[in-house]
Amino acid sequence: MKIIFCTGGVMSSLGKGITIASLAMLLKSRGYRVTVLKCDPYLNVDAGTMSPYQHGEVFVTFDGAETDLDLGHYERFLNENLSGVNNLTSGKVYWEIIARERRGEYLGATVQVVPHVVDLIKEKIYSFEATGVDFLLVEIGGTVGDIEGLPFLEAARQILNEREKDAATLHVSYVPFLETSGEFKTKPTQHSVKELLGLGIKPTFLVARAKYRFDDVVADKLAKFCNVKKERVFIAYDAPSIYEVPMILEEQGLAKKVLEYFGEGFGELGNYFKKWREFTLQYNELKREENKKRVAIVGKYVDLPDAYLSVSEALIHASVAEKKPINVDFISSEREDLKSVLSKYDGIVIPGGFGDRGVEGKIMAIRFARENDVPLLGLCLGMQCILIEFARNVLGYSNANSTEFTKECVPVVDRLVEYDASTKGGTMRLGAFPVKIVDDYLKRIYSGDLIYERHRHRYGYNNIFRDEFERKGLLVAAVSVDERIVEAIVLPDKRFFVGVQYHPEFASRPLEAHPLFVEFVRRL
Ligand code: GLN
Repeated sequence: MKIIFCTGGVMSSLGKGITIASLAMLLKSRGYRVTVLKCDPYLNVDAGTMSPYQHGEVFVTFDGAETDLDLGHYERFLNENLSGVNNLTSGKVYWEIIARERRGEYLGATVQVVPHVVDLIKEKIYSFEATGVDFLLVEIGGTVGDIEGLPFLEAARQILNEREKDAATLHVSYVPFLETSGEFKTKPTQHSVKELLGLGIKPTFLVARAKYRFDDVVADKLAKFCNVKKERVFIAYDAPSIYEVPMILEEQGLAKKVLEYFGEGFGELGNYFKKWREFTLQYNELKREENKKRVAIVGKYVDLPDAYLSVSEALIHASVAEKKPINVDFISSEREDLKSVLSKYDGIVIPGGFGDRGVEGKIMAIRFARENDVPLLGLCLGMQCILIEFARNVLGYSNANSTEFTKECVPVVDRLVEYDASTKGGTMRLGAFPVKIVDDYLKRIYSGDLIYERHRHRYGYNNIFRDEFERKGLLVAAVSVDERIVEAIVLPDKRFFVGVQYHPEFASRPLEAHPLFVEFVRRL
């Protein structure tokens, strides 16, 4: 197994995740077995308890881990499922160290960051050897120089030393362009590399994030002062979309240089890359079209598109699959003029969420969609809001609500008995479960009647009201295999009116658009 560490310089949000996902994809497309490990230096055990304001969407893996959104990029770029072990946090590391200490496994030793924490990180990295991959790409979150990232960088330093030619470092750094003087500045990157060198790590490859593609003079300077061979300096300039990044890096020969470094053959850039390029070209074409269907994602984190990243991605995948141009806007469910804003849209998506902020607006948006037959897709909390809206305005329970928000209500959405809310971390119904489809329309959409979908919830459809809902036309479309949990609902006389208790957005891929999103886009 060859290991490539990816570090970040100057500042965060440079797109290390996309760079790593792109490199992983370029290697995979050449026939290598590749996987990715995201290391997050924060002390949260996982991303599950973090507000989207901090780190964007919480991505849920098939096996039920609540992870950093970069895992979503990796899955979409690699077109494969990853698992909880692909995201390591300081919280997880310390949790395990303290558990070992309590069991007396350190035999009287003083337990320390060096060597114990660092050793455990190394153990986790080396454990991927057993999976038989050719390449492990390890993304170290944060920026070089962060105090909390030090144990991960120290683990990287030791592994680089132990593995010599079988390990490398790819440093992603920022090269700002000064508009006033019209020049690229390499100094911040030089400083970040100096910091890295001070930790004993010499970058093997340098990917410079920049506004434009810069010339050789800048590349020369970066190579000289950052201690990297010129041929190993690459420019990740701003691209019209993230899908172009693999092409930008391939054109500059990143994957080939990586393979050359490790003494591996270049192989054929296979079909996967070709299909990816086609996808990107089609997407660009659709973007140029003028008559786009307008989709509103109505949620509470609208100033932060990353909060609903997989949802907007899934819509793009479906739009390309259907060759139908769409434009996606994030609309705040707390806007006073919500109804009039929504009248400009051809379709509405209500994403998942927690807590009652913004819920009334989502319910209003659903009523608007139902009364005006605007295609509507409700995801998780979105489905629960459909139930509340329908109970209030069709069944006549003005006090209908979810017990997540108030106990004083007609509880059409209620807590699932086995999922307690008294502790928060990892205590929901998480990950993929089999779902039995009972409705013909949904069966047609999925071309089947047994599917696996990812979940992340603690509340759900209250079965006590099932007869009432169904008598008024809101049908149960899918259930859990034991039939206790309603997984999907549908209003069949509408253009498209579907709510699902699960999160199809996590399973959608550029080259494998999710059928539910495809059908939603088709009906716009
Ligand atoms: N808060 C709701 C629940 O726990 C919905 C969760 C979600 O949308 N992911 O059931």
